Amino acid sequence: MKNNEVILTQVREQQPVVGISACLTGQNVRYDGGNKFHQLIQQELAPWLNFQAICPEAEAHLGVPRPPVQLVKTSEGIQALGVEEKTLNVTQTLNHTSQHLVKNFGYKMCAYIVKARSPSCGAGSTPIYDMSGIQKNAGNGIFVETLKTSFPHIMIVEESVFNDIVMCKDFLEQCYQLHQKLAGC
Ligand code: SF4
Repeated sequence: MKNNEVILTQVREQQPVVGISACLTGQNVRYDGGNKFHQLIQQELAPWLNFQAICPEAEAHLGVPRPPVQLVKTSEGIQALGVEEKTLNVTQTLNHTSQHLVKNFGYKMCAYIVKARSPSCGAGSTPIYDMSGIQKNAGNGIFVETLKTSFPHIMIVEESVFNDIVMCKDFLEQCYQLHQKLAGC
């Protein structure tokens, strides 16, 4: 490793560890093969935080591109079902992958920036439909639900709140406070 790379690695290791939905960092992992790169997050937060970019649906090997899914309230609970492919049900796969990811990475993190409205990553904004396709309410995506249950101390924030520099600074301050409190998250 060159000197600059060693220094950069050392700096990263001192920074608060923050998970982030991979599509927000510009990775082409969305169902349509695209991304949701967020300029302000990249500019104002990325230099100061040790970002761990994760796409639960790509980790679950659902493919890129892949058929879109949505959360549906059924008699067996909330399920992730195909929007167009009505027989598609990826609930078990997503649950299993989420538990695996959270177990491996959750303990390191003091915060997580997630993509709003996603059936995996949404935090309170994900539409939940009934069996006839009518939206009934909104809740957490499958990955975020698992993360919240396993690590309630992690600060989870949707990307939609980062619309100005003040919000970014507030978030950074909270991350560094949590980082100190949890002694190296
Ligand atoms: S919202 Fe989450 S699951 Fe969807 S593409 Fe982004 S990281 Fe992947």
